[in-house]
Amino acid sequence: MAKTVIVRNGTILDPSQGIHGIADLWIRDGRFAGIFGKDEAPAREAIGETTDEKEEIDAAGCLVTPGWIDIHAHLFPQRAVLGIEAERVGVRQGVTTLVDAGSAGAAYYRQFADEVVATSVTGVLAWLNIAEQGLCEGRSELADLARLDVGRAVELVRSEPSIVGIKARMSGSVVRDNGLRPLELAKEASRAAGVPVMVHIGNAPPRLGDVLSLLEAGDVVTHAFHGKAGGMFDDEGRLIPEGEAALARGVKFDIGHGSASFSFRTMRKALDAGLGGYTVSTDIYSKNVEEGPVYSLAVTMSKLLALGVAPERVVEAATSLPAAVLGRSGTLGTLRTGAAADVTIALLAEKVTEFVDSEGERLTGSRLLEPLWAIKGGVSCRCG
Ligand SMILES: [Zn+2]
Repeated sequence: MAKTVIVRNGTILDPSQGIHGIADLWIRDGRFAGIFGKDEAPAREAIGETTDEKEEIDAAGCLVTPGWIDIHAHLFPQRAVLGIEAERVGVRQGVTTLVDAGSAGAAYYRQFADEVVATSVTGVLAWLNIAEQGLCEGRSELADLARLDVGRAVELVRSEPSIVGIKARMSGSVVRDNGLRPLELAKEASRAAGVPVMVHIGNAPPRLGDVLSLLEAGDVVTHAFHGKAGGMFDDEGRLIPEGEAALARGVKFDIGHGSASFSFRTMRKALDAGLGGYTVSTDIYSKNVEEGPVYSLAVTMSKLLALGVAPERVVEAATSLPAAVLGRSGTLGTLRTGAAADVTIALLAEKVTEFVDSEGERLTGSRLLEPLWAIKGGVSCRCG
């Protein structure tokens, strides 16, 4: 049975197509059917005329954007202690696609696919942890190299369409005495399977410059703007040479906020240096959603607004840029006619708000993004 959803009078903001203005967004049978201005009534009525069922959402005063994508979340509460239920931080918070960042490795991926990917309304994809146990048996998953099986990881990537790449957490407490070896193995798997690596950076060893030197075009550095020693920028605010070289090669930087990994001070250095093209993600899990400082992707995006980033760039960092990282430009992160209809409808409220980063620094902003509706594949869900 044909169904039409019409999102009326919203401010459409789609960086993937350079669209920013008031219009109506039409959805037919789960796919985008077009964006129409006031003077295009005949064209739009033609789409809906054979429809059996019609739903209208009044989006006046709201931003209507492609469905938000969070490329760093933890969604496997069945096995990984800190995981959170996908819907809680997905459609209910205006996020239509979540990417689990290595909760599951090869040993538990089948269960993750059956119990999280297959059962969630929110779209769920995953970075497969190169360690077979993922984050299901503690937090030093790369300390025992015997549990990193490249062949098994490659096989899984090839057979599981929900896997977008390989995750390796390269900080001292995770790799212990293994130095760069876990990342070398993750890269071996990623090259063989033709997918990128998402590398988590944190406290050395290994040294950040050495980690960056192993990355190739399309690989992603998450926690790129953390406030710990030995990070991406020197005291003068200059990007370290290996960071410069990585960006020039096409390596992508991602926020991955988390409880310990996003610093306003570091982000200001990045913005002052003119750095663009980064993605915004949360590293959200059960603890930092309730107690902060993360709370949601919307709050993380609002922090960028408070740092002076334009709304167009903030929306881009949560839509078309992460879609490109996932190799899904044209199908995710866009309102393009024919694409699956994932939409986020949010209020950009004028509201003085105090934000806190992972270092405890406070920052007062004047605007807060408040998601009201998420539409996933043409099905609307109220946020909250
Ligand atoms: Zn994480």
